[in-house]
Amino acid sequence: MTKVLLTGGSGFIAAHILDQLLSASHTVITTVRSQSKADAITSAYPSQTTSGHLTVAIVPDIAQPNAFDSVLQTHGSGLEVVLHTASPFHFKFNDPKKELIDPALIGTTSILSAITQFAPSVRRVVVTSSFAAIINEAHVSDPSTVFSEKSWNPVTIDDIHRNPATAYRASKTLAEKAAWEFVQNKENDAKFDLVTINPPMVFGPVVHHLATLEAINTSNERIVDAIKGKWKGEIPPTGQAYIWVDVRDVATAHVRAGLGLVEGVAGKRLFVVSGWFSNARIAEVLRKNFPDDKEKLPEEGVKGGELPEEDKRFRYDNSETTRLLGIEWIGLERSIVDTVRSLKRVEVSA
Ligand code: NDP
Repeated sequence: MTKVLLTGGSGFIAAHILDQLLSASHTVITTVRSQSKADAITSAYPSQTTSGHLTVAIVPDIAQPNAFDSVLQTHGSGLEVVLHTASPFHFKFNDPKKELIDPALIGTTSILSAITQFAPSVRRVVVTSSFAAIINEAHVSDPSTVFSEKSWNPVTIDDIHRNPATAYRASKTLAEKAAWEFVQNKENDAKFDLVTINPPMVFGPVVHHLATLEAINTSNERIVDAIKGKWKGEIPPTGQAYIWVDVRDVATAHVRAGLGLVEGVAGKRLFVVSGWFSNARIAEVLRKNFPDDKEKLPEEGVKGGELPEEDKRFRYDNSETTRLLGIEWIGLERSIVDTVRSLKRVEVSA
């Protein structure tokens, strides 16, 4: 069994990774920002906590350069794998440098540097990056553009005041670049290899400890809006990205790549994509599967949120990632239905 450090254990994606790791009896140390978040996780896994398979450590501020030193000093012995998911993903910030870029970028370099100093047994680090580090905003409507594992977003720190989405994309791009530069810089003498996972929009059931639907993670927000009736009169625009993946597949990608359950992923960017989506298609899935909610859902014929025609949108190619990971991607209908069922459970228990 493998000893794994998972950062950001309170998050939407990390909760699925944690669940998969503990189900397979691995030993996990996960980090969160506060004692209340630590308590929520340990109380969900009482037997694994008692048996020592799960330890929750508090790292209050990942934007500090030495943020992860103490956790690696305490838990670094025998550690083999680090999965770094913690990074801000929201658009409710005032200062993009302080609230997005610093935790994303310094959080990434601080964990890599703490590993080299205090955990020489680590053989692989997986950093959760994003399609945000792949997309080029200037080319989203260009059908001759093919985004793949090789593509890089050209965004720079000078672009972070343009709009919130660009600032978020910059945070992911700069953090991922810093991770690759860290392992390539011989002075750092990294003994581990690096894999990044680059998901587009992630939908899927919530298993993290959501007190209310208002606290929903950013990528599932649109589904909460739809089931609460906000799409009734008009379906909002989908955004620029139009591609998505299910959270369970993203978690599986971290586990397979991180624990070396698949060959050939060292030094790779893994572009985990299920397919195209649009808000209009999500509305159709909701209408078909939740007829009891029809008062709140947009009726057939309500406009908005359509996917642009093929000649007005980018293309993508993630065939290398699909081949390497061997994941059969969960489809949109199942993902949305499972998401809504999980959200209804939160609503009932709130
Ligand atoms: P969540 O917001 O649910 O999780 C983010 C995690 O990062 C939480 O544990 C959060 O802690 C932690 N975090 C955020 N800011 C800080 C900070 N300043 N200091 C310490 N911890 C912090 O989002 P997701 O699960 O969706 O995102 C997880 C990762 O996946 C992120 O790196 C994100 O960029 C990436 N990603 C997500 C996609 C998606 O569509 N969901 C798509 C592509 C990439 P807390 O719970 O305390 O806020």
